[in-house]
Amino acid sequence: MTAKRHRAWIATPLALLAIGLGAGTGLCLFAADQTAAPAKPLTVAEASDFKATSTYAEVMTFIRDLQRLSPLVRVETMAVSAEGREIPLLVVGKQVPSGPAALRNDRRVVVYFQANIHAGEVEGKEASLMLVRDILLDPKLPYLDKVVLLISPIFNADGNDKMSPENRRGQVGPEKGSGVRTNGQNLDLNRDAMKLESPEMQGLVRNVLDRWDPLLTVDCHTTNGSYHEETVTYSWPLCPNGDPEIIRFARDKMLPAIDAALEKKYGVLGLPYGDPLDFRDMSKGWATFSHQPRFMTNYIGLRNRLSILDENYNYADYKTRVLHCYALLRAILDYASANAEELARLVAEADRRTVESGLAPKETDLFGLEFEAKPLPQPVTVRGYEVEVIPREGGGFPQLKRTDRKKTYTMPYFADFQPKRTVRRPAAYLIAPADEDVLGVLLRHGLVVERLVEPAELEAEVFRLKEIKGAERLFQGHRTNQVKGEYAVEKRAFAAGTLVVRTAQPLGHLAAYLLEPESDDGLVVWNAFDRVLVPQWGRGLGACPVFKVFGVEGLVTETSARR
Ligand SMILES: [Zn+2]
Repeated sequence: MTAKRHRAWIATPLALLAIGLGAGTGLCLFAADQTAAPAKPLTVAEASDFKATSTYAEVMTFIRDLQRLSPLVRVETMAVSAEGREIPLLVVGKQVPSGPAALRNDRRVVVYFQANIHAGEVEGKEASLMLVRDILLDPKLPYLDKVVLLISPIFNADGNDKMSPENRRGQVGPEKGSGVRTNGQNLDLNRDAMKLESPEMQGLVRNVLDRWDPLLTVDCHTTNGSYHEETVTYSWPLCPNGDPEIIRFARDKMLPAIDAALEKKYGVLGLPYGDPLDFRDMSKGWATFSHQPRFMTNYIGLRNRLSILDENYNYADYKTRVLHCYALLRAILDYASANAEELARLVAEADRRTVESGLAPKETDLFGLEFEAKPLPQPVTVRGYEVEVIPREGGGFPQLKRTDRKKTYTMPYFADFQPKRTVRRPAAYLIAPADEDVLGVLLRHGLVVERLVEPAELEAEVFRLKEIKGAERLFQGHRTNQVKGEYAVEKRAFAAGTLVVRTAQPLGHLAAYLLEPESDDGLVVWNAFDRVLVPQWGRGLGACPVFKVFGVEGLVTETSARR
């Protein structure tokens, strides 16, 4: 970690001198210049004329400058990274709340912006810091009547400081380099939302999502791949096993309004995130990313909260990316503060529906196991470019070259994940034998987990394995499992100590995604039950130790405390 500073100030000749000296002198200009308008600390991006991005030390210095600027920003530590860096969480409010309990009788809503989960994708880090500064410097303090703003500008701090111009070579700047994708454990944090193996994601869930319960989260990234004129792309939560109203509202109401305002008020073009299905024939369609909740945006949706994926356009220059990301964040705050009551109602209703369906699951309460991305009713229009297809000698996939000829494509948008196969959602999942490691993961997600105090005999659905395949190629340190099998209903005796996870809790959809035996992103996939799925003596395969129960009356349980 270097402590080299890019701190600079404008508005005073002395400050200009400091810039001229290359900053880094450690001068505190506030003390020297009490009479002038409040000095405006500059981010590294601004001070370097958009040639550099900030190191961890520089972010921390900027945050301290913000705290000197205003009492309306407080800093918490949301996690300590694998390499020992404290990950800062800025809490910005007019009165800045001492904690979430202080918001209990408060009508303000909590909005959370996160940047740098992939530390080569840095404009969210710079834009979010600029944004906090500008809010604090504006005498009208825009947004803060309605919103308490949480900002994590440097979520992957370890990846951030492994800076090099060699990282993300296809990206246009910053020319002095940016960080790497993975954290200090070589994990991709945007694949860790279900297994929660990184301190960063564990801290996010515990210290932001559970503690502050933001009703809207924005996760900032940079695209890789397709060419178009739009500089900001975005997605809503896509996971179809969550509350359908969350997806519908984000997709059909919130993001169209934000996109329109982005263009009208800020002059920035936005586009739903995607890539062409076929670069050689753009008319075939535009496809979004995965529905799986290992991706943070989808995970938040599965928790009944709104989320936005921001993917800034890789081929726009760095300055444009920072400024346009900044515009998007403003447009989101414009929307959140204008619609705060509606958003609060929406997520409260989603929680209520989730609990209700868990109390008395109906035949129609289904959990999807396999999905197909279908086109949405409305096509998408992309301001793209014509592509030249250059055949390769001796065959093979042709080379594609972007031309300068602009062309607008209107095509189907494959972003509606429809289930191909479903099973019924139960009232509870029982885990027998109890497994302390699995209990730990469930508690880390903030789920309520109980234990049987007395043995119980219950009719339960059991999933017997017929096939289990670990992936040939390691992924995030795992040989992820694919299982096949069949369900049987049987009367079973469950011993005292058996773990009970009811779906009648606000995180009921998440409980199902983690525990359904055939879930495509659950704990079976992530090897949590590997010790018991295959008998270690004799032939054949075992049963999944997660049992589905549709009636849970009369169970005597105690609740496991969060660790
Ligand atoms: Zn990314």
